[in-house]
Formats: sequence, C-alpha cells, structure tokens
Amino acid sequence: MIIEIDEKSGFCFGVVGAISKAEESLAGGEPVYTLGDIVHNRMEMERLEELGLHRATQNELDRLNGCSVLIRAHGAPPALFAKARAAGVRLIDATCPVVARLQKLAREAWDIMEPRGGQVVILGKKGHAEVVGLTGQIDDKAIVIESVDDLHNDVDPGKPIYMISQTTKSPELFDQVSRAIYDMVPGGRDNGDVIIKDTICRQVSSRYEHLKEFASRFDAVLFVSGAESSNGNALYRICRSVNAHTYKIESPDAIEPQWLDGASSIGICGATSTPKWLMERVAGVVQEMTGQR
Ligand code: SF4
Repeated sequence: MIIEIDEKSGFCFGVVGAISKAEESLAGGEPVYTLGDIVHNRMEMERLEELGLHRATQNELDRLNGCSVLIRAHGAPPALFAKARAAGVRLIDATCPVVARLQKLAREAWDIMEPRGGQVVILGKKGHAEVVGLTGQIDDKAIVIESVDDLHNDVDPGKPIYMISQTTKSPELFDQVSRAIYDMVPGGRDNGDVIIKDTICRQVSSRYEHLKEFASRFDAVLFVSGAESSNGNALYRICRSVNAHTYKIESPDAIEPQWLDGASSIGICGATSTPKWLMERVAGVVQEMTGQR
C-alpha cells in the first residue's frame, strides 16, 4: 500500500503569515479577535481557538476597545479599518502582500476607468471577504461577476472594461471569461478599451497542473479542505477531473472505508488553507484503516 502526502499542498505564505501573526500575539497571553476565520479550515481554527483566538463580528467592534483584532490574509475594505480605529481596537493587519497589491491595482483600475465612464470588473465570489475588501477600495463601484452568464447580464460591452480576478479563482474560468469579453466587445481583441489583468495568485495557479499530475497517479485521492474554502473547492474539482476516485473531506473521521476498497495507492492533498498536520493525521488514519484489511 502506497500512502503519499502531496508535498506542495498546504498553507500558502499568506496564510502562514496570518497564522504566525495570530500566534505571536496570542503568545503574549492576551486574547486575539478575528473578524471571520483566519483560514477556511475548521480543524486549524479549533487549534487556534484553544490558544485564545476568538471570532467576532464587525458589529462587536465597539465592545472590543483596547483588544487586539486581526485582519485576515483576505484583507478588508478601508471602511472596516476606519471603523476599527474609531472603536479603539489594536489592529493586527495580516493582509497577504499579494492581496494588498491587488487592492492597489483595483484603485488604479478605477482611476483609469472612472474618467472614461468605464467599468472595473472583478471575477470573484460575491460576498467573499477578499472580494469585499477589493470592492471596498473603490466605494463598491466594481461589478463582481462569478461566471460568463454574469458577464453577459451585468457588464456593458459598449463601455471600457478593466477586469481583475480574485486571487483564488481558477485559471480555466479566468480564460473563459476573458475570451467571452473579447467576443462581446466591438472589434474583439483589437478593442483598445479592454484591459484584462490575470491576478490569480501564483501560489494557487501553480498548483493546478501539479495537482492534476499528482491526483492521476493514485487509485484513490483524499482531498482535505474546509467546506468554505473557495480555493479548496476549485482544486478539488481539478483532482476529480483527472481521478474519479477523489473524495473531499474536512477531517479524518469523514473517510468512508469503501472509498479505499481495492486501492493499493492513496494520495492525500489539499488546499492553500489545509494544514500539513491535518493531512498527516489523515495519512495515519488511512494507514490504520488499510492495515486492518
Ligand atoms: S492564495 Fe495567494 S493571495 Fe491568497 S493568501 Fe495565499 S499567498 Fe496570499
């Protein structure tokens, strides 16, 4: 029986940075509050909560006067920073540097589009924290689309377009939407009023090809990821596209024994929000389950 953990799966540097900042602050013995999960992984959040991390909502900021509040790797809109400062909280800004650069690009895009009556289009999940942080840079004037259908419904082909993407979107979807933009604007690719910037994080896009190769090598694949992880859902679909025996689990207790029946090789991989220790725990459980057969 071969059981292999993908060495390239696991936290990206943005998540590592945010967790390190939380751990450093927690080491001082004071509680730290986070507005939403630092990482879309229940098991890792439980570990941090045991160290003294608490979840809070924006509406609770006023009662957190003097407390430490962490801004996640996803970033946040300027209005939230202002509200937190007014409430007198100690801010720990763990915005990923890649996201911070993208926020700056969103502002630059709007500076170009606004005088021309153009549109800033963000390919991203509506309501996702990173997207909320991005649209907040330009007073929510961006058009957020999730699909080619949204593009056709919400974006005016007669006006200039500047498209960027949430960092964790799939390169495939980004290409589809980019092609659809050129198909719908006058003059197609020669239209000088279209700017498209591929802003998918390389920590994510580089994993697509790698995971295809990894997942295709095993009889069964266990993809470990939180249900809320946008990046996890996209990478899981990639594994599943090359190996129908790919199963998504949040924790080792979700493994169904019949998935492993007849398998002589099992690959374990995950998202940029999946802790290594969790994949190792999954490997241990697989070892026990297959050892009993
Ligand atoms: S996926 Fe990329 S942009 Fe997002 S937190 Fe990780 S390193 Fe930063």
